[in-house]
Amino acid sequence: MFDGDAHPTSAIATAVAGKVTAATEPAIVFDRVGVRYGRGRKTTVALRDFDLRVTAGETVALLGPSGSGKSTALKALAGFVRPTSGAVRLAGRDVTDLSPAKRGIGVVVQSYALFPHMRAYDNVAFGLKAHRVPRKEIDARVAEALAMVGMAAYAERLPRELSGGQQQRVAIARALAIRPKVLLLDEPLAALDAQLRQSMLGELQELRKALPDTAMLYVTHDQAEALALADRIAVMRDARLVDIDTAENLWRRPPSDFTAAFLGGANLLSCTVNRVSGSSALVTAGTFTLRAEAPDVGPGGWDVNAPGLLCVRTHTVQIDATSERNAVRGTVVSSVWRGASTRLRLAVDGLTDEITADVPGHLDTEVDAVVGVRFPDPAGVLIPPPIGTESVSAARTSATSEPGAPE
Ligand code: ADP
Repeated sequence: MFDGDAHPTSAIATAVAGKVTAATEPAIVFDRVGVRYGRGRKTTVALRDFDLRVTAGETVALLGPSGSGKSTALKALAGFVRPTSGAVRLAGRDVTDLSPAKRGIGVVVQSYALFPHMRAYDNVAFGLKAHRVPRKEIDARVAEALAMVGMAAYAERLPRELSGGQQQRVAIARALAIRPKVLLLDEPLAALDAQLRQSMLGELQELRKALPDTAMLYVTHDQAEALALADRIAVMRDARLVDIDTAENLWRRPPSDFTAAFLGGANLLSCTVNRVSGSSALVTAGTFTLRAEAPDVGPGGWDVNAPGLLCVRTHTVQIDATSERNAVRGTVVSSVWRGASTRLRLAVDGLTDEITADVPGHLDTEVDAVVGVRFPDPAGVLIPPPIGTESVSAARTSATSEPGAPE
């Protein structure tokens, strides 16, 4: 499944195997890719007009809920599904009709997909043999790949003699052994327990640094993984790419309510935009007038006196005594201790929307207790108005859903 030719971007391979569209194209290009499964009334549109470019050395995370088309995009690039429309290109070479084995892509999947009867060594060597790497090079290449994932000492073990994390390392080594220019990872940490996931995340960050020329596409539904690993995050919903930007931009200035909600920790408050001056706005939410960041939305600017959405991060809301200056009264609707923080759901006097606050430590508050609530200044960032069919209310229902919650 991770097969490909040994020199996928060499001049000869390019000329023979596919049409060259541009010598300087990025490592990965999805060009208006559509994928449909099934026929007639049973058709599922899994990917619509999907455009994405990933440059060499860049990691892009495909982030979105279950069924949003992430794996399908990855499979279309790897050659496991045939796009119904559009094209996929690798370094300018149209590979839409090329067999997976000829694409030279490394693929790592959630379930490891190791051969159970083969030692770690043979699992890694298998791909090299399939790529006709000369026999005398195989030992060194296997050793190099296993060493990259810290598994040099486990070459003789069968998969069943390895832990889940170790098996996933071997699967990564197998993908790396062919020295791919493009590495695809489909929820590679999803089968691991929380602690192991955290340490593997650190190892993937290290691996990232060790492969400065490799383009990576990383499929996940876990926003924490996407934020930790990706240079850019492509947020997917209902078979479409909805937003794409650097992790920091998406977090600081979410371009849509859906992305704000999906990245987690967002209160989305209905408001009216009263005044905008540069990148700062005054808004009314319920009976409060709050200052908000107003990101640049292009030449038209913000509509004044129009309804808007204010994104207030849950960890920026402070809980105090009601007597504190600038504190407003809030009634505790629920309180859940989560270890490092306590998550409070609050009905705030003067606000129609309930809000969520994540406060550090273990806050011992009872349901129905009245507390002081303080918003930061600015209180948050305005979300640009939705374009087309994106529904504000649909995303709002998941505004405070658990970040990275299991689907
Ligand atoms: P994600 O990776 O975001 O969970 P997928 O790409 O796996 O999403 O799936 C996108 C949509 O396509 C879903 O509605 C899914 O049920 C459907 N789908 C995926 N694979 C197949 C298939 N082999 N046959 C039919 N439908 C499929």
